[in-house]
Amino acid sequence: MRKRVLITGAAGFLGSHLCDRFIKEGCHVIGIDNLITGDLANIEHLFKLEQFEFYNHDVTKFVHVPGQLDYILHFASPASPIDYLKIPIQTLKVGSLGTHNLLGLAKEKNARILIASTSEVYGDPLVHPQTEEYYGNVNTIGPRGVYDEAKRFQESITMAYHRFHGLETRIVRIFNTYGPRMRLNDGRVIPAFMGQALRGEDLTIFGDGLQTRSFCYVDDQIEGIYRLLMSDYSLPVNIGNPDEITIKDFAEEIIKLTGTDQKIIYKELPVDDPMQRKPDTTLAKKILGWEAKVPRNEGMKKTFEYFKSLTKEQLHKSEHKDFSKHIVK
Ligand code: UDP
Repeated sequence: MRKRVLITGAAGFLGSHLCDRFIKEGCHVIGIDNLITGDLANIEHLFKLEQFEFYNHDVTKFVHVPGQLDYILHFASPASPIDYLKIPIQTLKVGSLGTHNLLGLAKEKNARILIASTSEVYGDPLVHPQTEEYYGNVNTIGPRGVYDEAKRFQESITMAYHRFHGLETRIVRIFNTYGPRMRLNDGRVIPAFMGQALRGEDLTIFGDGLQTRSFCYVDDQIEGIYRLLMSDYSLPVNIGNPDEITIKDFAEEIIKLTGTDQKIIYKELPVDDPMQRKPDTTLAKKILGWEAKVPRNEGMKKTFEYFKSLTKEQLHKSEHKDFSKHIVK
């Protein structure tokens, strides 16, 4: 019997790569997405397969899935700072109400559930690199609070279901991850810089560019998530690449990689933008035998190939996605 896997956020960046992975593992995959930030183009190639089903549904509403389920992976959520600003209430709801619905579903089906958490639970971290024991430094009422607190609540309710109901749960804390199928207009630094280079615009650095990030290629991330799901470890695990770089140095790498002759311009730093971020992945190494393998120059080349393959129309439709029809008044 094929394992039956439910993936929420299936049309998104990570969700669609997870669909591919579980199909490859011989599973039957049921994808759910309400397509606010997701794009069907990411999973178009799966629609012809018998082992794949898709439902356009908002998981903050009751979720019904007929038949048995072995695994649930909850990856539905806006995941970029500009998205949180535009759809703050949906961001809060999918992390809280959506997670509650999926935990209930997992309990009903006796399925193992993996929850996508984030390095944002560490906020603007005062401990560096970030280990799983660090409680974080989050501004509850800032613009990122809607994401950070939803994800913190998500971890709490997941642990409560684990401890109170004995549910099999897994929590991955995902650090900045990149690769093909990132949304060009999501405002994140990698699509932003690559889109700017391809359109012949200047690269925009927010603040002085001395803030750091550590970028993980999507194939590494998916492998880490898969191993965590298959492990018997129920506390949160960081998955990310510890290779840290300042945004300024990163912009220079992108200029070199893309061959653009544009310059760097500086814009205001967004509120609560973390000054530094780097995962401590000792735990993942120990319990999953996992560490990031793809070097940044290799991953960025593949990612740039993807952005280059987009049509001119897609490339120039670079303004932020219009969420107006989803806005809750
Ligand atoms: N950033 C930037 N220029 C851009 C977009 C982002 O300098 O056009 C900066 C942003 O302020 C942050 C870093 O790049 O310090 C990473 O931003 P991103 O939105 O990708 O993810 P975050 O890690 O902040 O969630």
